[in-house]
Amino acid sequence: MAKQPMLKFVQIDRDMPSKRAAEDRREDFDEIYAEFAAAKAEEQASRCSQCGVPYCQSHCPLHNNIPDWLHLTATGRLQEAYETSQATNTFPEICGRICPQDRLCEGNCVIEQSGHGTVTIGAVEKYITDTAWDKGWVQPIKPAHERGESVGIIGAGPGGLAAADMLRRAGVKVTIYDRYDRAGGLLTYGIPGFKLEKDVVMRRNQLLADGGVEFVMNCNVGQDISFDDIRAKHDAVIIATGVYKSRDLEMPGSGATGIVKAIDFLTVSNKASNFGDSIEEFDNGTLNADGKRVVVIGGGDTAMDCVRTSIRQGATSVKCLYRRDRANMPGSQRETQNAEEEGVVFEWLSAPKGFTDDGGKVAGVMVQKMRLGQPDASGRQAPEVIEGADYIEPADLVIKALGFEPENLPTLWDQPELPVTRWGTVKATFQTGATELDGVYAVGDIVRGASLVVWAIKDGRDCAEAILSRFNTAASSMAAE
Ligand code: FAD
Ligand code: SF4
Ligand code: SF4
Repeated sequence: MAKQPMLKFVQIDRDMPSKRAAEDRREDFDEIYAEFAAAKAEEQASRCSQCGVPYCQSHCPLHNNIPDWLHLTATGRLQEAYETSQATNTFPEICGRICPQDRLCEGNCVIEQSGHGTVTIGAVEKYITDTAWDKGWVQPIKPAHERGESVGIIGAGPGGLAAADMLRRAGVKVTIYDRYDRAGGLLTYGIPGFKLEKDVVMRRNQLLADGGVEFVMNCNVGQDISFDDIRAKHDAVIIATGVYKSRDLEMPGSGATGIVKAIDFLTVSNKASNFGDSIEEFDNGTLNADGKRVVVIGGGDTAMDCVRTSIRQGATSVKCLYRRDRANMPGSQRETQNAEEEGVVFEWLSAPKGFTDDGGKVAGVMVQKMRLGQPDASGRQAPEVIEGADYIEPADLVIKALGFEPENLPTLWDQPELPVTRWGTVKATFQTGATELDGVYAVGDIVRGASLVVWAIKDGRDCAEAILSRFNTAASSMAAE
């Protein structure tokens, strides 16, 4: 009988690529995990039990064919593993780095459920495509034939880029408009380099440009060009603008200087520290934690990115205030642990009630201690104030990381008929992204609210398919006339 290459979870323990020591990684913005060596990737992939009903796959938003590419990796057929992986995912090496795998594929792996430790799906996915790049298997799009239709995409984040990739492969002319100077959306200017190094994103942007996707950068739709003009230029338009309006805190002292928004802090840090851009607010210290006592408010992934960025910028201390406890925080446990290792102090069950200042400059956060009470309508235990336990947390820089809401697109773009939900997200049909405006589609965070990269990719791919099917239907009816 042939030697069984899989099911090795009984002999081989779960292993992750090695993680750099905390004192080393505090010093730079490089990724913290190393790459698997080839033998290690094969070994870890071979732990998969090749389930008949793979829960990993059903819990991956892209329904990636995980068991197949694990089997191909375990048996050394890496190019086929890459082909299989990229067939369902536009950016596998990016998802392998930044998907919250513990909540998606890996968290639902059958051998994790049986107590053996999950197959390290994300690390293998990253390894396969990083290897494909090294070996030259990742090549620019060359459509078999060019089509006459064109699509305008507003927003060069993962949702817009994934749609662009699929449409261009089918020979459609694609133009992407973005208000930033570099493409990638939050992959470029939100997520810090220690989770996702920027050359990983930039090589993807370049690949799309080499495949014929046109990028119109520094173009703020609604200001530099109207939405109507874009609609008039293209046969279909995709809105992929993400959500950028930061939730705010209105409380005593919140107007003091030195209280900043997470997205501003992270964008400037990405520009200055990862791309070496000269940014005034970074250089003059407005959006720079160097030498400061930093307090970050919030318990989500954005807060984790802010605390860890502050450490790398040279803050003298970094504290994170969150009103619930560790078990109830929305951010990833893995990122929280990474932050603690790097020196971040978490103040659980702590909420701000105001700010003190010194001559208009923030000097501290007035903190009230909380306890968890009865579950509220959402089923989560609601935080309640513990009277008489307030204190002041000294701070030179306070970063608000309280989540994001959509900008008001119907007003900004003078499109009162663009349908939006009561939360301000664009109303679009499930699995096509079609809005009620003819030929206008929407994908990613602007439809879902703040979500995940992998969901934006899924939306972009689904929407591209819907647009292609619309074009094909129109072409067949013209041919029939
Ligand atoms: P975006 O990535 O936001 O891209 C939208 C693009 O539209 C931007 O480039 C913007 O400049 C452009 N745009 C907006 N308005 C206009 C306009 N009027 N004209 C022209 N261009 C416009 N998800 C994960 O899966 N893992 C993570 O680790 C993770 N970490 C995150 C960390 C931070 C700090 C943040 C903020 C988010 C994080 N996310 C993470 C969420 C993830 O980044 C988003 O869900 C995803 O990027 C959404 O993709 P998108 O294409 O919808 O929008
Ligand atoms: Fe897991 Fe994300 Fe990859 Fe899907 S895309 S297999 S959820 S890491
Ligand atoms: Fe393999 Fe786990 Fe997926 Fe089963 S659930 S196929 S063991 S990765």
